[in-house]
Amino acid sequence: MFRKICTRCINHSYSSTKKDHWQCPYCGYDLKEEKAIVVDHTINFSTINNLLEQKRGMNIYRNQL
Ligand SMILES: [Zn+2]
Repeated sequence: MFRKICTRCINHSYSSTKKDHWQCPYCGYDLKEEKAIVVDHTINFSTINNLLEQKRGMNIYRNQL
């Protein structure tokens, strides 16, 4: 997944490919000269586990009050 930031309206535009023709969906500005940023959507299990542990800890803490 790629992302470009419009230099005219500063909105973020997303695409699955680094296509040649890339127009801002908000203002219609041509973004083909802008640099595409790779957006990482891979799931990190250790991060998720840490978040779940934190949430569980918060629930235990709340139940003790
Ligand atoms: Zn725009």
